[in-house]
Amino acid sequence: MIIKKIGKLMSTIMAVIMLVTVTVPAFAAEEAETVCKHDQGNYYKYTKAPTCTKSGTRDLFCWVCDELLEKDEWVPATGHGFLRAEIIKASTATEKGILRETCSECGEKIRDIKLENNPEECYHEDRGYYNDIYPTCTEDGREPDSICRQCGKILKTGNVQKAFEHKYDQYSLIKKIDPTCTKEGKKVFRCYKCFATKEETIPVTGHKHKELRDKKDATCKEEGYTGNIYCKDCNEIVSLGTVIAKTSVHSWDAGVVTKQPTITEEGIKTYTCSVCSETKIEKIAKLLDDKKEDIKIPDNKKDTTTIVIPSKPSQKIVEKVGTNFVVAGNTYKITKSSAEVSFVQAKKNVKSIAIPDIIKSNGVTYKVTSIETKAIKNNKKLKNITIGKNVRTVRKNAVFKCPALKTVNIKSTLLTKKTASKKGFKSVNKKLVIKVPKKVKKLYTKIFKGLKIK
Ligand SMILES: [Zn+2]
Ligand SMILES: [Zn+2]
Ligand SMILES: [Zn+2]
Ligand SMILES: [Zn+2]
Ligand SMILES: [Zn+2]
Ligand SMILES: [Zn+2]
Repeated sequence: MIIKKIGKLMSTIMAVIMLVTVTVPAFAAEEAETVCKHDQGNYYKYTKAPTCTKSGTRDLFCWVCDELLEKDEWVPATGHGFLRAEIIKASTATEKGILRETCSECGEKIRDIKLENNPEECYHEDRGYYNDIYPTCTEDGREPDSICRQCGKILKTGNVQKAFEHKYDQYSLIKKIDPTCTKEGKKVFRCYKCFATKEETIPVTGHKHKELRDKKDATCKEEGYTGNIYCKDCNEIVSLGTVIAKTSVHSWDAGVVTKQPTITEEGIKTYTCSVCSETKIEKIAKLLDDKKEDIKIPDNKKDTTTIVIPSKPSQKIVEKVGTNFVVAGNTYKITKSSAEVSFVQAKKNVKSIAIPDIIKSNGVTYKVTSIETKAIKNNKKLKNITIGKNVRTVRKNAVFKCPALKTVNIKSTLLTKKTASKKGFKSVNKKLVIKVPKKVKKLYTKIFKGLKIK
């Protein structure tokens, strides 16, 4: 665009400024796609530049979006511009010279001035200003020369006027696109002196708000994942996670005995993981056989009520109610985990049976608290039984068909009418004597009514 005249330009600028000032731009929050209301002022391009004497036309464009708002608007002739001075004929002592004034724009002659004085004798009282050039944003101008209109002498040559440089300020910001995490934004300015535009980039913001998603803990069944880091603003994955190996920690259930132990063979207990269904087995110790076990019962205490079996920590007997195990040839059943057992099966063909106060098995101590039905039966050799002091219950027919049995030594004082009776001893020797602790003799006489109590 060629700027014809600074006066014109200035008036246009003022118009634009006024328009722009009325409505302060609010581009910042707007998206690039927002529909422009064309209310931020306008600028123009000549379609036919006016001259000093002829009118022209120009197109008006929206200041912000460049849309054509008005086509071929009429523009009046500019009128002649600055004066150029040209010495057609120099003044001398004898002859008068001529200074011609022309239009700086169209070159048309405005007038000729007769130079009356000889420059050597002139006082230069009538000075004219000529040949000035207005600077633009990009080109230097110059100040006017001072020339004497009486003698034609150039009294002062105009200095160079530096180009303006474009003027960009808050009003010339016509577009702002905010940067995103990964895309630069930009600002577009329009110079309101020459309407040239410039762009400034706004750096990317980077992913500012991050969060961890898709995290999964590993189990024994499935691999886990450390999770991906996402940008909350743009949902992009900023960094990928890594797979976490399956754990080796299973969630075992209480286990099921899948093979009962016998005297000759170990049993098997199978545990199942509730998460991955994997199984593991555990051996259950063989049932103890008295012929092989080395049980030491001191000779002078043959009828001791305590028999200690050395524990074997490597063989785990699961202490579950209902589990049977054999100690010194006698079989016991757990009735209370880690606490109590009942005497369920006596060793065969022995002359004497001692039901101990306590037994130990695999480091666990149990009280022997009851004698089950037919725990001692069909023994023709059996002559005496000792009942330990923790026995509370002697079931009906606990001792059954033991015709030689003559002595039962009860150490327990815990028996009651409800938990014991004469019926505990069935088909025994008629001369059977029950020995009882002194302090319960009266009670036990009632409990075992019909038997000899001593
Ligand atoms: Zn617009
Ligand atoms: Zn002109
Ligand atoms: Zn002069
Ligand atoms: Zn400019
Ligand atoms: Zn982002
Ligand atoms: Zn598992």
